[in-house]
Amino acid sequence: MADKRDYYEVLGVPKTASDDEIKSAYRKLAKKYHPDLNPGDKAAEEKFKEVGEAYEILSDKDKRARYDQFGHAGVDPNYGAGAGGGFGGGFGGGVDLGDLFGDLFGGGFGGFGGGRRANPNAPRKGGDIRVSLVLSFMEAVHGCTKTVSVNRQDTCPECGGTGAAKGTSPETCPDCHGSGYVTVQQRTPFGVMQSSQPCSRCGGKGKIIKSPCSKCHGSGKTSSTKRVEVKVPAGIDDDQSMRLTGLGDAGLNGGPSGDLIVIVTVRPDAMFERDRFDVHVTVPVTYSQAVLGAEVVVPTIDGKVQYTVPEGTQSGTTFRLRGKGIQYVNGRGRGDQYVKVVVEIPKKLTKTQRDALKKFEDTLKDDNYEQRKGFFKSLRDKFENG
Ligand SMILES: [Zn+2]
Ligand SMILES: [Zn+2]
Repeated sequence: MADKRDYYEVLGVPKTASDDEIKSAYRKLAKKYHPDLNPGDKAAEEKFKEVGEAYEILSDKDKRARYDQFGHAGVDPNYGAGAGGGFGGGFGGGVDLGDLFGDLFGGGFGGFGGGRRANPNAPRKGGDIRVSLVLSFMEAVHGCTKTVSVNRQDTCPECGGTGAAKGTSPETCPDCHGSGYVTVQQRTPFGVMQSSQPCSRCGGKGKIIKSPCSKCHGSGKTSSTKRVEVKVPAGIDDDQSMRLTGLGDAGLNGGPSGDLIVIVTVRPDAMFERDRFDVHVTVPVTYSQAVLGAEVVVPTIDGKVQYTVPEGTQSGTTFRLRGKGIQYVNGRGRGDQYVKVVVEIPKKLTKTQRDALKKFEDTLKDDNYEQRKGFFKSLRDKFENG
C-alpha cells in the first residue's frame, strides 16, 4: 500500500483538472483496461481497479479535497495503519481517518482538541462499490439482465464482525477506555496545547482483541466475490449508471451496507447510431431505385421494416419513422428513427452498360434536372450579366 500511485498520475490529469476532465480521463482509461475487453489480463485488471479507485476519490468533492490536503491518508482508512500492528491481525479496519478529518472540517476548526469526536463504535454505512458493465447497442436499447462480479466486504460470519475468536469478546482498551482517542499535551511557545489523537494501542477502535477470530484474523470482515444479477432498463445510454441499494460493502457496528454502482458503457453499433432517444441509420439505394421509387428494407431496433422510397428521391434525403426510436428510460414513449437515403453510384461498368447509360442520358432534358437548371441559371446571372 505504501507504493500507491498518485491518483492524478493514475488518471493522467493535472491537479487543477476540472470535474469534466477527470471524468473523461476516467472513462477513457476504464474502457481501455476494462476486463471484458482484456480477458485474462491481470495487469489490465489491476489498472482497471486503480483507475476506478482514483476516480472514486477525485470525482467526489469532499474526498478530493481531503486527498489534496492529506494524500492517501486522507481518504483511505487503512493507509499506513498496517505499520506497528502487533495486536490481533493488525489494524484491519484501522483508524477511520475519514471521520477524523470529517470532524476536523465539520467541527468549525476546533482542531483535534474540542468538539465532537467520532465514536469508533458508532454504526457506519459500508462503502459503495463501483463496477463497470459493457453492453452492446441492442442490449442497452432493449434492456437486459446481466451478471456482474462484485468483490464485497461482508461481516465475518464466524465472529459476527467483532474480530474476536469464538467464545471470546474484544476487551475495552485500557489506554483510551474505549473512546479510540487519547488526549496528548504538548508544550509550545504559546503554552500547553491539548490535542486528541487516535489511540495507538487499539488503533482507534476502542477495543483490543486478545485472541483474533481464525476466519477474519481480527478484522471482523471477510471479502468474497459474488455474482450479482443486474436488471438493465431498456433505453439506458452510454455513461449512465444504476445504483443498487444495499449491495455494497457491509456496514460497521450494525450500520447499513453501502451501494453497488453499476456504470454502463455501450459499445457502438455498426448500423445504428444513437442520439439521445433517436436512432439514425443510413440506407444505400441504387440510382434507379432513387429515380423510379422503390420498396426498400430498413433496419430498425425492432427488426426489418419495408419503406417506400418515393420517385425522384435525392441522395442524402432523410425520412423520419415516428416512434421507432428508443424507449425513454423513465416514462412512456419512444424517440424516432431517422433514415438517410444515399444513392450509391455503380462502379466497374462494362462497355454495354456504359453505352446503355450514355444512350439514356442523351434522352434527358434540362427539365429532368431541377437543381442543375437552377444552378446554371444562377451561374449565368452571376458571371455573364454582371
Ligand atoms: Zn471473524
Ligand atoms: Zn485505545
